[in-house]
Amino acid sequence: MYIISSCLLGNNCKYDGGNNENRKVIEFYKKHSCCTVCPETMGGLASPRMPAEIVGDKVIDKAGLDKTRAFEIGALRAWDHVLKQAERRREKIEGAILKSNSPSCGNGKIYDGTFSKRLTQGDGIFVRILKENNIKIISEKEIDLW
Ligand code: SF4
Repeated sequence: MYIISSCLLGNNCKYDGGNNENRKVIEFYKKHSCCTVCPETMGGLASPRMPAEIVGDKVIDKAGLDKTRAFEIGALRAWDHVLKQAERRREKIEGAILKSNSPSCGNGKIYDGTFSKRLTQGDGIFVRILKENNIKIISEKEIDLW
């Protein structure tokens, strides 16, 4: 079973009310057993919502509000959902295809906290949990690797 960021499948859970639909990810989804998650909506955040970025050990939205708790709860709920799905289906978790640069789903590179589209090294809050559990992660840009 593969974990997939919901917005990559065309679901409108992105901060601006839209999505990050990716044709290759959708093709992959049709051919494999997948578990779809959006950690931010699972943390109770609405769509649309203010964009948020990681600043130090917190997640702050563009209005300056601290959204760390919602991001952390959402990431834990998403991971719990994945574990329950894997158990119910009796499948191993093969890996994850997650949206690049997101404060939840970004792997290795995330926005730098200045809301200027600049990137810095780091992982999203959900990705941190997956790495603690040794889950292989790629972004939608690397889908050809699988
Ligand atoms: S939290 Fe992940 S799945 Fe949800 S909109 Fe952001 S990048 Fe997409």
